[in-house]
Amino acid sequence: MQQSPQEILKTIFGYDEFRHNQADIIQSLVTGKDAFVLMPTGGGKSLCYQIPALVRQGIGVVVSPLIALMQDQVDALRQVGIRAAFINSSISFIEKQDTEEAMLRGELDILYVAPERLLMEPMLNLLDQCHISLFAIDEAHCVSQWGHDFRKEYQQLHQLASRFPNVPRIALTATADAKTREEILNQLNLQDAGIFVNSFDRPNIHYTIAESASNARASLLKFLDDKHPDDAGIIYCLSRKKVESTAEWLMQKGRLALPYHAGLSQEQRKQNQQRFLREEGVIIVATIAFGMGIDKPDVRFVAHLSLPKNIESYYQETGRAGRDGEPADAWMSYGLQDVIFLRQMLDSSDAQEQFKRVMQFKLQALLAMCEMATCRRQALLAYFDEEMAEPCGNCDNCQNPPETWDATKAAQMALSCVYRTGQRFGVTYVVDILVGKTDQRIANNGHDRVSTWGIGKDYTQVEWKGIFRELIALGYLSVDMEHGVVKLVEKSRNLLKGAETFMARKQRKQQKLSKAEKKVRATVAEEDQELHEALRTLRTKLATEQGVPPYVIFHDSVLNDLSVYRPTTDAGFTAIHGVGQAKLDKFGEAFMDIIRQHPKADSAKTVKPRTRVNAALSDTVSDSLELFNHGMSVDDICEKRELKPSTIYSHLANAIEAGELESRQVLSDTVEEADIQEIEAMAKYMEIKNGDAMSPLFEALEEKWDYGILRCVMAGVE
Ligand code: ADP
Ligand code: ZN
Repeated sequence: MQQSPQEILKTIFGYDEFRHNQADIIQSLVTGKDAFVLMPTGGGKSLCYQIPALVRQGIGVVVSPLIALMQDQVDALRQVGIRAAFINSSISFIEKQDTEEAMLRGELDILYVAPERLLMEPMLNLLDQCHISLFAIDEAHCVSQWGHDFRKEYQQLHQLASRFPNVPRIALTATADAKTREEILNQLNLQDAGIFVNSFDRPNIHYTIAESASNARASLLKFLDDKHPDDAGIIYCLSRKKVESTAEWLMQKGRLALPYHAGLSQEQRKQNQQRFLREEGVIIVATIAFGMGIDKPDVRFVAHLSLPKNIESYYQETGRAGRDGEPADAWMSYGLQDVIFLRQMLDSSDAQEQFKRVMQFKLQALLAMCEMATCRRQALLAYFDEEMAEPCGNCDNCQNPPETWDATKAAQMALSCVYRTGQRFGVTYVVDILVGKTDQRIANNGHDRVSTWGIGKDYTQVEWKGIFRELIALGYLSVDMEHGVVKLVEKSRNLLKGAETFMARKQRKQQKLSKAEKKVRATVAEEDQELHEALRTLRTKLATEQGVPPYVIFHDSVLNDLSVYRPTTDAGFTAIHGVGQAKLDKFGEAFMDIIRQHPKADSAKTVKPRTRVNAALSDTVSDSLELFNHGMSVDDICEKRELKPSTIYSHLANAIEAGELESRQVLSDTVEEADIQEIEAMAKYMEIKNGDAMSPLFEALEEKWDYGILRCVMAGVE
């Protein structure tokens, strides 16, 4: 029996709704059209080809450069009952033969294969004899020389178009500026493809970029202790040495932290990566070599102890956090040394001039984003040509706006001191002159007699270094490659002349965590913790038995929901987001057993089946109602649906009118009974009925109550 995409989504994957434009993309492929999909990491690209591969006749061939990833992807698909396999260099001859035979017999739904393998003649021959439902080209930016992961084999993939003209192809990527995008379409012969571009926003990721004057490690530890005391995460460092020492230091601090860099043996790397994937709460400390092959949805934070190369890298690396959609952190600390180092590295590379200029430009954009005082997310999205109307409210600058001060005078002192000392020294030396130090070297150079010696005593050395960092970051000073000598540039002139002002950021004080920030760690309420632990133990046990990562059994969000809603029936169990039929069959009993051993004394929340409760209600009203019935507060629903309270209250007012809710049920958390009665009395006095315009009532009550709340009250009045 043929299932529709929607049915497959529900019964196999256990989700109710398509995300972003998944539905359109899937529809397009199902009807045999090519597609190009731009979707951020964690957006749900895989379903875009997995579902059409199931709907359409034959086998879906997925091309991916990430061999390390295939095993896990296939494991996850098999868990939900899909016949999937992969062919790459890691499997034995026998396994390969088995897979090929299954393909010929038409007993495979999805095959993962690396591009170089796909393009070999025997493989193409084999495919000629199979019925192919589609080709999915994952990580499609690898085809672009402008992009950051160029792979030569990818350029050969255009052959698929001519060799299999009737098979629809879908190319997917999470990174593509306009130029890369164009190259993908051209190189892969996708001129007629439907183009599906999604927002790059990752709303569940909280961004923090902290300038660290001295101790980056201390701030890292505070960040980890405050927000991620036992979470899995990735910490990026620039050098192998720093990777090693940071991992060691974290181990001393009681965290399970494992190093990962190209200097380790293959065996060691593999082992550390496996532990990161399979155990809970492992931190990987890595050079940027790590990550490309990692598909772990429950990475709760990505921390940078060094600056990434550019904004694309920053976006990609931080994008590995929170792919499951739960709150996650992108945290970075950087200082003067990082800025100097990156600038030098770029200048000294022996790349072509034009390439270097591009890289310079990209670095400049990254540094500007680090130093900015306004919303990070707006800047990040703007870099990808995406406009965001309002500041996000979920980044450091939104939540704790940095103060700035007019540092024009100080900047002038700094620049002229560079000039007076002959543009031959590094920052530390120039700062010594500014604060009026004397030592042998300074005396020998006669620099204790220049006019700028000691003129900067009002600021500490740390403050001066901050000013230099900003000057260099914003391009008012250049740094030479060999000795870190700082020099004036064209841009310095206006500042020196006083034709420009220079606003610098004040050092931020350590802040208390705001409510929103704390949320990252508060996932399970106290009364649910015992059960949650027990469920987690069961998940680990099952995962170990089957040799798969825990999230392949169930995502964190499923465990959280299970411990809150405690379903003990099949219907209740599949009502949990992320549980389909196959998972119910496999794991339902085991998990429900544990749940039965942990009865909740009082009012355990129950899950209502998520079918439309009342056909008279619109989709959006039903959605709010459903969440409310799941026990979420109006605030929670607002956050989840990204809608205003008045909207949610209006939805619930509709539900009240339809007899699905009582007005008191909705209001009792936020509005006192006496206030409800006052609103009712006022309405009666003014002869306002449900369905009338609310504004006279709103004004009569001195604008004290949200329109939505008024509607809820009125909806409950006979
Ligand atoms: P990408 O490849 O775009 O980085 P994935 O395909 O790995 O993202 O999906 C990220 C996560 O989102 C996965 O855990 C997946 O199961 C989940 N997901 C995908 N589509 C949906 C959906 N419609 N509803 C709920 N979860 C989804
Ligand atoms: Zn913001």
